[in-house]
Amino acid sequence: MRRKLVVGNWKMNGSLAGNEALLSGIAAGTGAAGADCAVCAPAPYLAQCQVALSGGAVGLGAQDVSAQAAGAFTGEVSAAMLAEFGCRYAIVGHSERRAMHAESNELVANKAVAALAAGITPIVCVGETLAQREAGQTQQVVSAQLDAVLALLGEGDVAHIVVAYEPVWAIGTGKTATPEMAQEVHAQLRAQLKQTNAVAADTVQILYGGSMKPENAKELMAQPDIDGGLIGGAALKAADFLAIIHAAN
Ligand code: PEP
Repeated sequence: MRRKLVVGNWKMNGSLAGNEALLSGIAAGTGAAGADCAVCAPAPYLAQCQVALSGGAVGLGAQDVSAQAAGAFTGEVSAAMLAEFGCRYAIVGHSERRAMHAESNELVANKAVAALAAGITPIVCVGETLAQREAGQTQQVVSAQLDAVLALLGEGDVAHIVVAYEPVWAIGTGKTATPEMAQEVHAQLRAQLKQTNAVAADTVQILYGGSMKPENAKELMAQPDIDGGLIGGAALKAADFLAIIHAAN
């Protein structure tokens, strides 16, 4: 049985005071949660979050990681640095980074490898645009995105990644994939993981992301291959984030 995982992606939101309130609200409500949970904070706030979350049930993650280990890469943050601040996860290949920072499948794959080398679980995001879905290319697009990562991983590494299916047209738009639409893609992704490592594929958590909220979380996460959520907007309110975590129980 896979444990459910609910991860908040704060994107470029937050402040010292706001984070403190949000984190204490989340920590106060996770007591009876049967699911794993984490927040991916902007890099400048990782130290604050590390202290605030220390010893509790809520894990910490970053929203991106450099594919490079160290050196002349201005503005980049290495996986080793993230590890020093207690990051358990790093999102790689979020559609906003693919679109706004021209991140290729190959770069995303190298970021996943860099995270793993530092003991950080990469949350590998894949997803199609609306035009790609309407052109019937969903499977081809997400499969190419995941393939690029699998091509660089050793067989044993597969067990140490998380995959997030995030249809681009559902992110921040209020439009959610139906549970059946999402399940179809999740099942395809798991079948693809099985081609690399049949045993590990059964343990890999595949999250759904794209306007997941308290009202639709339970139905989505009831699907057999949906193992949790990557949550944007709804992760910025403790009550909504907690409701999603508890819907995962
Ligand atoms: C995201 O940013 O990964 C996301 C899923 O955002 P939202 O929940 O706001 O659609």
